[in-house]
This record gives sequence, C-alpha cells and structure tokens, in this order.
Amino acid sequence: MTFLDIRGVTKRYGVTTAVDDVTLSVAAGSRTAVVGPSGSGKTTLLRLIGGFEAPDSGQVTLNGDVLADGTAIVPAHRRSVGFVTQDGSLFPHLTVADNIGFGLDKRSPDRSQRILALMDMVELDPIMLNRRPHQLSGGQQQRVSLARALARQPKLMLLDEPFSALDTGLRENMRKAVAAVLKKAGITTILVTHDQAEALSFADQVAVMRQGKLVQAGPPRSLYLNP
Ligand code: ADP
Ligand code: ADP
Repeated sequence: MTFLDIRGVTKRYGVTTAVDDVTLSVAAGSRTAVVGPSGSGKTTLLRLIGGFEAPDSGQVTLNGDVLADGTAIVPAHRRSVGFVTQDGSLFPHLTVADNIGFGLDKRSPDRSQRILALMDMVELDPIMLNRRPHQLSGGQQQRVSLARALARQPKLMLLDEPFSALDTGLRENMRKAVAAVLKKAGITTILVTHDQAEALSFADQVAVMRQGKLVQAGPPRSLYLNP
C-alpha cells in the first residue's frame, strides 16, 4: 500500500533544475534509500518530501494528505515528520534530556519517563541525561538527535546523511541500530546517502538520482549501481 506518494515533482533554483519530474511511491513502514552523487538533488527531494519546501510542480501526499504542492506547504508544527541531519543539529545549551524532550509538553507528568523510554529505544545510557551535546561522542549525539525526532511520534522519518560524520566502524553499528529502531516502531523512513553500500544494507527500496532525475528505483538486489 502506498503511504508516501511523490508525483511528477520538479524544483528549480534559477537555471538549476535540482529535482526534475520525480515520481516515486513508498510503502507504509518501509525504508527507502535515495542515492546519487553530490548535487544530484537528494537533499532537495528530501526537503520537498518533508514539506519544508514547495515544488514548482507536482505533488507530495502522505497517507492521502497533501504535504506539498505548487501552492502550499504544510506548516512545520502540523507535519508528523521527523528530520535528522548529518550534524544532528542539537541545541548546544540544552541537556540531553531537554534536547530529547524539546517537542514534549513541559507540564506532562510522564515527560521524564517518556524521555527515558526514548533513550532506551536508541540505546543511550541514562547516565547521559544531564550532559550537554559537546560532552557526547558523535555517535551519541546522533542517537540524541534520533530520539528527539522519535519523540514527536512521526509517521515519516527523513534522514539526511545521518551517519556520514561518524567513523567507519561506528557508522555501520549506528546504521544497523537505527534501522532496527525504525523497523520496530514501524516508521516509514527515507534515507539520503552518497554511500551505496549503506543504501543497499539499510533499505527495502533504493532510488538512484542523477542530475535531478530519478533514474532507477527498486529493491536493492534488482539494481545495477555504477560507481
Ligand atoms: P545533493 O543532496 O544530491 O547533493 P542538492 O539537492 O543539495 O543535491 O542540490 C541539487 C542541485 O540544486 C545542486 O546543483 C545545488 O547546487 C542546487 N541547489 C540546492 N539548493 C539550492 C538553493 N537553496 N539555491 C540554489 N541552488 C540550490
Ligand atoms: P519556515 O516554515 O520558518 O520557513 P521550515 O519549516 O521550512 O521553516 O524549516 C526551516 C528549517 O528547519 C529547515 O532547514 C528545515 O530543514 C528545518 N526543519 C523543518 N521542520 C523540521 C522538523 N520537523 N524537524 C527538524 N528540522 C526541521
């Protein structure tokens, strides 16, 4: 069943067509990886999917609701979309607990419990609760970033090169851990990466982009990938 539907989406910046007539269907609860060289339009496509940006033409629907079309984008607070970037974008002055609990109601009596449950989900030791981002390793920061995104109970998780700042060994561990968490939670996920091996091991569906166009899409083993 199609959950996320991207129909003929085009986005131009001046003379550059960053995303060129892209059509892609994503099944509920699945994981899709978008691969392609730098500048091929991966991040722009992700931002269009999230409704952070409006396409010049085409439409993005999530579960039948329009997230983005040529006239409107859904305001940030109304999207059930989680977003994790390469640098994690944590609030540097807030503790781990307050970063994770940022979107949770301050007066909610079970706030602390929910933060601890989220830390458990991403396998972060509760000892980290009152630390600040600069006191954490890169991998731990990405776990906090993921927990913060999960706190909003998103229907769709968008990951933009979330592992690329990490060391090779850690990157693989994190990729497996994150895939397991999202699979268990049944959250439909789109991962943008320039790393083909990462895409193949993470996803049920791989979408290959070149110069703004979607050139292939299918299950990992059906694809022929050029270096
Ligand atoms: P990727 O994520 O695959 O590296 P991007 O989506 O970031 O690709 O960029 C696709 C193309 O669109 C590139 O040529 C890039 O320079 C251009 N582009 C992206 N964002 C902007 C912007 N805000 N203004 C102008 N050009 C942009
Ligand atoms: P505005 O509505 O003020 O123009 P946007 O919502 O389009 O702002 O997004 C501004 C920035 O915040 C973008 O860089 C986007 O990547 C980021 N952003 C938007 N929504 C989310 C979200 N749900 N989680 C994390 N980052 C987000």
